[in-house]
Amino acid sequence: MKDLSVYYCPGCGRYTFSQPSEVADCSICNLSMVLLTRYSDFRTLTKEERDRLLLQNMIAGNPSISSRFLDYMRSCSVSKANAPQDPYLHKLETENKELNDTVQWMHKTIWDLLHKNKALEHELEKYLPPHHSQEHFESDRII
Ligand SMILES: [Zn+2]
Repeated sequence: MKDLSVYYCPGCGRYTFSQPSEVADCSICNLSMVLLTRYSDFRTLTKEERDRLLLQNMIAGNPSISSRFLDYMRSCSVSKANAPQDPYLHKLETENKELNDTVQWMHKTIWDLLHKNKALEHELEKYLPPHHSQEHFESDRII
């Protein structure tokens, strides 16, 4: 038992305790298990320390793991971002508000123009001969 060591699979990260003479391949990956540390050291570690030691060794033995891990993390955050109520919905709400603001602005502008137009009409009437159209109508009637 004093030679018991910890071996891990470089493919999937499973680990096993065994004697150096009895090291088997990973039953899932069929890869040769790699020595991690002596069991006497391993047993004193917390779960987090064990995971960290395993990850450090796996990354050191296969640098592509860190980029695969980061890809996985990013794909998780992308699917979170696509979930409703996150930025996409916020963007729609913002666009909708902008649209409403534009409609309100257009209404106000049209009303302003109509008011100005009325004022302009009244202003023009001062300079036009009074009841011009009515006179014309009456003259037509005389004929
Ligand atoms: Zn494996």
